[in-house]
Amino acid sequence: MTELRAKVMERAEAYLDDVVRFLRDLIRIQSRSGQEGEAMRRIEREMKALGLANVGIDPIGNVVGWVGSGPYRILYDSHIDTVGVGDEAAWPHDPYEGKFENGIVYGRGASDNKAAIACMVYAGKIMMELGLGAGASLCIAGVVQEEDCDGWAVGEAIARGFFGERPHCVVLGECTNLGINRGHRGRCEILVTARGVSCHASAPSRGVNAIYRMLPVVEGIRRLEAEVADDPFLGPGTIAVTKIESVSGSLNVVPDLCRAVVDRRMTLGETAAQAMEDIRRASREALAGVAGVDAGAGAAGDTGGSGGSGDAIQVELLRYTERSWTGYRADVEKDYPTWVLEEDHPVVQAGVEAARIVLGREPAIGRWDFSTDGVATMGRHKIPTIGFGPSEERFAHTVQDQVRVEHLVAATAFYAIFPDVAARMAGDAGSGAKADR
Ligand SMILES: [Zn+2]
Repeated sequence: MTELRAKVMERAEAYLDDVVRFLRDLIRIQSRSGQEGEAMRRIEREMKALGLANVGIDPIGNVVGWVGSGPYRILYDSHIDTVGVGDEAAWPHDPYEGKFENGIVYGRGASDNKAAIACMVYAGKIMMELGLGAGASLCIAGVVQEEDCDGWAVGEAIARGFFGERPHCVVLGECTNLGINRGHRGRCEILVTARGVSCHASAPSRGVNAIYRMLPVVEGIRRLEAEVADDPFLGPGTIAVTKIESVSGSLNVVPDLCRAVVDRRMTLGETAAQAMEDIRRASREALAGVAGVDAGAGAAGDTGGSGGSGDAIQVELLRYTERSWTGYRADVEKDYPTWVLEEDHPVVQAGVEAARIVLGREPAIGRWDFSTDGVATMGRHKIPTIGFGPSEERFAHTVQDQVRVEHLVAATAFYAIFPDVAARMAGDAGSGAKADR
């Protein structure tokens, strides 16, 4: 293994300047969610120049390139979209200049998640040069719209076969500080709608104020904080009302509609369906204790079926309905399932083994605080998924967005070594299973 490590590290060091140049180019090309086209074209050019196979852009706008044609199918996923920069004056440097100083590349997307694609593409080159990954087919994908709707683009591409046959495992390039991550909390965005009856604000008793109807419901949602589940690995779920708005014809009209948005983080065992049911129950209980709410709706002759407090509150998931830069339309519920891959799973162990070879020590095994494309690959499609990425989660979405060159070298080497290790371990696990029967 030390010989393999020496060979791969020598190549990863040799390509460092190219990885840095490529990464800085990508930082200079702004790529907010839905506007990744130019960055995707840039990655496509690099993949082609390095000799990756079947390089192209799929109908959604993801860029893909392939290495090897072995039976064990691996998907590398690095999202190419970034969040915005906020107040540019708060940045110590131009977020889009691709500043490179003292062995650190700075700029929006450096950590989250453009460093990973630069390393993955050069890992593909190294695999071809050194004849690595013979037992695997590796699909390297630059994916759109992760920041806006984690998992949508990669999940849709897997479902439609744009990344070939269903992969046996997925490696996410999201920053892990060179550790192996194996899960994170899920989340969903829940829309709560309260309906009332509008009337002139000079005689509010003639109607039902939807804001007043919503107030006890919000308090009820707040009381749910005490009921969320906990998990020793992922931590507790959370619930937070993040927005309230009302609709009325004018400022002198009692509003007949009030909407609240709930950000629900789900730990292991929690689902969006259960989270919505909890809110429905909390709403019923909250309104049952409020005198006059239901009577008001009835007295106003409401015939829309919203006479009961249960019907007066509607609970549903928000939907994501944006188009990709190629015009491909998303239309999905904002439900991002919790996922965890067991620590003794062969894919986790393959990641640990590959990291051990590269780092010369035991890697940390952990989880992310933030959400990733794993909500689709593992959460929805149940494909064993791990994360290994350069840089650290604490730099993501901050004005300190950065990655160190040592991380670029180590990640490039990891991505070059992992396919062999994973294909071998999958084979071992397969034969072990047979022997058990
Ligand atoms: Zn990310």
